[in-house]
Amino acid sequence: MYADRIKHLPPYLFAAIDKAKQEARAKGVDIIDLSVGDPDLPTPQHIVEALARAAMDSMNHRYPSYEGKLAFRKAVADWYRDTFGVHLDPEKEVLTLIGSKEGIAHAPLAFINPGDVALVPDPAYPVYRTAILFAGGRPAVMPLLKENGFLPDLEAVDPKVAKEAKLIFLNYPNNPTAASADRAFFRQLLDFAIDNEILIMHDNPYSEIYYDDRRSYSILEIEGAKEVAVEFHSLSKTYNMTGWRIGAVVGNADAVAGIGKVKSNIDSGAFGAVQDAGIAALRSSKEVVDSIRKVYQHRIEILASALQDHGMRLEKPRATLYLWAHVGQDSIAYTESLLEETGIVATPGVGFGQHGEGYIRFSITQPTERIEMAAERLERMRAA
Ligand code: PLP
Repeated sequence: MYADRIKHLPPYLFAAIDKAKQEARAKGVDIIDLSVGDPDLPTPQHIVEALARAAMDSMNHRYPSYEGKLAFRKAVADWYRDTFGVHLDPEKEVLTLIGSKEGIAHAPLAFINPGDVALVPDPAYPVYRTAILFAGGRPAVMPLLKENGFLPDLEAVDPKVAKEAKLIFLNYPNNPTAASADRAFFRQLLDFAIDNEILIMHDNPYSEIYYDDRRSYSILEIEGAKEVAVEFHSLSKTYNMTGWRIGAVVGNADAVAGIGKVKSNIDSGAFGAVQDAGIAALRSSKEVVDSIRKVYQHRIEILASALQDHGMRLEKPRATLYLWAHVGQDSIAYTESLLEETGIVATPGVGFGQHGEGYIRFSITQPTERIEMAAERLERMRAA
C-alpha cells in the first residue's frame, strides 16, 4: 500500500520507550515525563486575548494569503531588527509558516532534485533528514561530537561531498545537544557555504530561551549571510505557543520565494486570527520573555545538579529547554531502567541519530514542582 518514501523511513525509535511508559502507567507509577520539549506554561494572556478579538473579525474567516499577512511579516521584521539588529524586507524576505516544522519539511522540495546531496547534523531534530528523503535527496551526515562542542567539523566534510551538496541544515541553540554556536562558527559556516555554493537553512526556534543573560544569535547577523542563508523561526518556544502553529522563514529572497512557491501548492496559509495573535506576541514587552526565561533557568539549575550528582556527565547549557546527559551506555536500555526505577521519562539519544547513542535528553517543560520531585527521586535512587 505504502510508497517507498514512507516505507523506507527509519523505524520509530521511540516505540520501545512509549511502550515502557504505557506499562509503567498501567502499574500506577506516577510518571514525570521529561521527554518532550513542549512548554507547560500557558501562552501569555495578552496573546490569548488578541486571538479572541481576531477570531471575531470575519475577514479572518476567509482564506488567508499564501505568504501571510503583511502586518505579521512586518512584525517579524521589526522583531528581527530589535532582537538581532537584522534588517529584513517584510515583502520579500519574510514568509509566514504554519509552525516552523511545516516550513522545514517543505523547504527541500524547492531546492533538491532526486539524488541531490544535502548535509544534515547527527544527532538532530529528525525532520531535516526526513524532509530531504521526501524530496528524493541524499542526506550526508555531519556528526556532532562532544570534542567539537557539538558543532559540525566543517573541515572534516569530504570536499567532494561539500561540492555536491545543495543545502545544509543546522540548528543553534541546538536540539538535542543544548549546544550554542558563537559568531566565529557562523562566520566559518558562511565561508564554507559560499565556497561550495550551498544554501544554509538555519533552524533557530530556541534563540530566546537563553540563560545568564548571554543572548543567542541569528545567522543573519553575520555579514553576507543573506546571500546564502535562510533562517526558520518560531513563536512556539519563545511565547509558549506550540499548539498555535505559527512561525516564519526569513533571509535570502530567492530562497524564501522558492519555499513560498512550494507552499502555495500545498497549503493555504496560516489562520489570520493566529497571525494577528502572533503580532501581539512579537510586540510583547521584554518582561514577558524575561519571566519565562527565569522559570526555565531555575529548573535547569535544579535538574542539572541532580543529574550531575547522579553521575551523568553534562554541561549546564547556555540555551534551550534541554539537558544532554552522557550515560555512556545503550541509551534505550538506560532510559527504560531510569523509568522503571524513578518514573522519570527521558528521550534516548539514539532517537536523534546514531551519534546520539550514549546520551539521553531531558526537557524542562514540566512544572517546577515536578522537576524538584524528579531531583528527589534521583537522589533517593542514589542513596538506596
Ligand atoms: N526545530 C527544532 C530544532 C525543534 O526542536 C522544533 C520543535 O520541537 C521545531 C523546529 C518545530 O517547532 P514548531 O513548533 O515551530 O513547528
